This record gives sequence, structure tokens and C-alpha cells, in this order.
Amino acid sequence: MTDHPKSYRMTTLGCRANHAEQREMEAILNAKGLIRTESGMPASLEVVHTCSVTSRAAAKSRQSIRQAARKRGPGHEPSKVIVTGCFASMEPDVAQRLVNSDEPASPGTVIGHHHEDGRSMIERFRSEVDAWLSSPSSRATSVKQATLHLPLVELPNQRAHHTRAEIRIQDGCDAHCTFCIIPKLRPDLRSKRLQDVIEEARRLVDLGHNEIVLTGIFIGAFGHETAIHRRQDFQPETRLSELVDSVAAIPGVQRLRISSMEPMDVTEDLLDAMVANPRIVVPHLHLPLQSGSDRILRRMNRQYNASAYLEMIEMAEEALTLDGLPPAITTDVICGFPGETEDDFQGTVEMARRVGYLHMHTFRFSPREGTAAARWKSQFVHDETIRSRVKRLHTLENDPQDGLAIKYRRQLVGREHRLIMEQPDPDHPGRWLGRCDHYERFTVEGDFHKGQLVRTLIENLDESPTPARIISSDHRLQLMPYS
Ligand code: SF4
Repeated sequence: MTDHPKSYRMTTLGCRANHAEQREMEAILNAKGLIRTESGMPASLEVVHTCSVTSRAAAKSRQSIRQAARKRGPGHEPSKVIVTGCFASMEPDVAQRLVNSDEPASPGTVIGHHHEDGRSMIERFRSEVDAWLSSPSSRATSVKQATLHLPLVELPNQRAHHTRAEIRIQDGCDAHCTFCIIPKLRPDLRSKRLQDVIEEARRLVDLGHNEIVLTGIFIGAFGHETAIHRRQDFQPETRLSELVDSVAAIPGVQRLRISSMEPMDVTEDLLDAMVANPRIVVPHLHLPLQSGSDRILRRMNRQYNASAYLEMIEMAEEALTLDGLPPAITTDVICGFPGETEDDFQGTVEMARRVGYLHMHTFRFSPREGTAAARWKSQFVHDETIRSRVKRLHTLENDPQDGLAIKYRRQLVGREHRLIMEQPDPDHPGRWLGRCDHYERFTVEGDFHKGQLVRTLIENLDESPTPARIISSDHRLQLMPYS
């Protein structure tokens, strides 16, 4: 149980008059001892000061009210929401409906510009805040600490060898896939606090890293105390989408990548955050399929079936396709899970064809002592059959004419790509290797620095790695050479 000071966030839309009123309302809140929170941090009170001068402003007001109504405060209770301003005056019923839509147990308050009992909007705002602060729900400061925190052990003080720097935002898994030993080794879920992630990212940028990778055992369980979706019964203190937004906003972060995600954790909310930061959060997702057969997925105790996986892929494609170029999707597949039949394997092949993976990490099933699947010895698939299935998937991916990888890579040709340069090309003196936003590696003529940003054009796929022609390199973004 933890005590939290009261905090507020104010979202203001519209004109200068609104911003002047914002300052008056902030002065009231500050005088009452409330602390203003940074963007992305939870707040006990959400104030949305709205505008309706154009239909676009009204739409933004509606969206901001909806977002505020979903927020949770320091102890994970729904935040108190107060909606003020022109939209609240013009459409008070709509504002009231929106503010109550997610948390009817915690009604929000709508305060328009009109005078009521001779009192102005600001005066009524002050009364509403007083009433809220003296209410029993507001006074309850002892709250359940929902999530164990992953400690910020030590900030790095030296640049790592790679251009990419990883931040471990989550640890632990209790999902108990029947082939996996991790829940036995790390059963407790922990997530890093938003503020600690931001601090770590800032330090990494200061050290010269401009590409950040968010990692974890089960990233989608960020902020939750369980990875089992049906048991995730409260909104986390900070949603993954909010974390992505906050890290993407740090000056100097040029590229943000989310490492492997469990398929059903790709939510609309997360995709919105990716779409909102198109130059930073890359359109690449690593989504382990493991099998395309519903029967095998059930035996694996995975939390999705083939059609749910496909729906999620379609949602990601719709959100992240830019100028006709779909996102790069990579995956993990297990071949020869106990009891896997040829029909089951065909399910995997069909799913791979449909998704068009850029890359598949194909693993042979290997029994891990201590897991359920290791005990199903009578159903182990014959070695020869596993070898043949691995080979078939390898051909499906890598056939030079119509493999899945080349089909995806052909879509990169004739387009400009932003590369982050990684290292000298060991096979081609005078060239460097760099990686584009869609996770493909290219070789470029010239001498660069690690982390240098370069705009290139891909003209053909005749060689491997693919040569890219340089269009421009941004020397202002050049990083310090290694000492
Ligand atoms: S979700 Fe991932 S870490 Fe958790 S049990 Fe399954 S495979 Fe292992």
C-alpha cells in the first residue's frame, strides 16, 4: 500500500483566451497543493479545456475527453475528469456522455462558459475542485500497488558497441506456454516505471545512441501483474502506448523499435502511438506465430488462434502501410511440436504465405526439461519429418525467385530509405552496412560513422547484401566516433 500526492494534468485546445484561462485554473490547482504531472504520467485529476471553433477543433475536443475518461490515477483508480471551455458550453450533453463512457462509477464534470447562479466558469471550476478534494474517494490515499516495479539498477555510463541500445522495460511471464521454461524461472512480472525508462533513454541518447529498442519477456504485459489476458482486470498505471509516445518524444531519439511482441498485444491503442510517431517508431513488428494450426496453438497454450492472429496482422497492415509499402513482419515458428500432423504443418505454411513474412526464425521443437510438452514423448514427431518441415519453411522463405523474403524486399526497390549506419561492410572494403526502418540491411559506398543517418535509394536486388545508392547524409546528426 502506497501514499500518493494528488496530481493533475491539463489538456488545453484552441485559442489564446483558452490558454489564459488555463493559467487561471492551474493557479487554483497549484494553490490547493496539487502537482502538475508530465505528459504520459498518471494524474489524479484530468482537466480538458475544450474548443469548438471549427469542426476539427470539436473533433479534437471529443477525442481528448475520451482519452481523459480512460485515464487512471496514481493508485490505478479512474482519474477525476473536469471538462471546461467552448465545447462544454456548445455540446454539454455530448461532453457528459463522453466523460462518463468508460468509467460510469466515476462521473466527470462538465463546466461550460455560461454563468450559473451568478458564478463564472472559473469560479465553478474552483468549487468543483474543492468538492472533489473533500470527497471520500479523493481523500483515500492508501491504494493498491498494482505492479511490481523493475528497478532502474544503474544508468549506463558508456556507449555500447551496437548503434542500437536496448531498454528492458518488462520482465517475467506467467503465461505457461507448454514448450517454454521461462514461467518457471521468472514467474513474477515487473515493469519499469515510465520516469525511469525516460531517464534511461535520455542517458543513452547522451551517450550517442539514436536508436532505442524496447525489450522484455512479455512486452505486452507492460504495467500488468499477469501476462494472461483474461486476468488483466485493470488498466495499468502507464500503458505501453503511452510509454512509446513518451520515448519517441525524447529529443535525439531517431528511431524506436519494439522488440518481439506476443501477437494479441498489438492493440489499436499501440498502433495509434506508432502511427502518431511515423518518423520515429518503425513499421516493423516481430510477432511469434509458433504454429498456424488452431489445434497445435491450443496444445501450446498460446492465447490466440489462427484467425485472431490474422485479424491482428490485418489491423497492423491497415495502420502501418505507408505509400503502399506494408509493415515488415517477422516471426518465430516451431516445427515438429508433439503431435503436429502434416495438416497442422500446412496451417503454418498457409499462414506464412498469407502474412508474407520478411523473415521467419524457424526452430525445431526440442523438449525442455520441466515443461509440459517435454513429457509428451509418445507424440514426439520423427526427427526426419521435423528436418523436412524446417527445410520446406526455409525454402518458402528464401527461394530466390518467389520466396517470401524476396517478395517483400522487391517492394523496397525504387523507394527512398533512411538508414542508420551500423558498421563497415566486412565483405566489401569501402562500404558500410546500415539498416532501414523496415529492418532490412543494405550496403552503401562511402565512409560513415556508427549511427550516422543516411538517405538512400534502392535500385535493384541483384547482390547480397543489397546495395543502396546514397542520396544524402545528414552530417548534423553524425555521432561522435568511438574513442
Ligand atoms: S508467452 Fe513467451 S515467455 Fe511466456 S510462456 Fe509463452 S513463450 Fe514463454
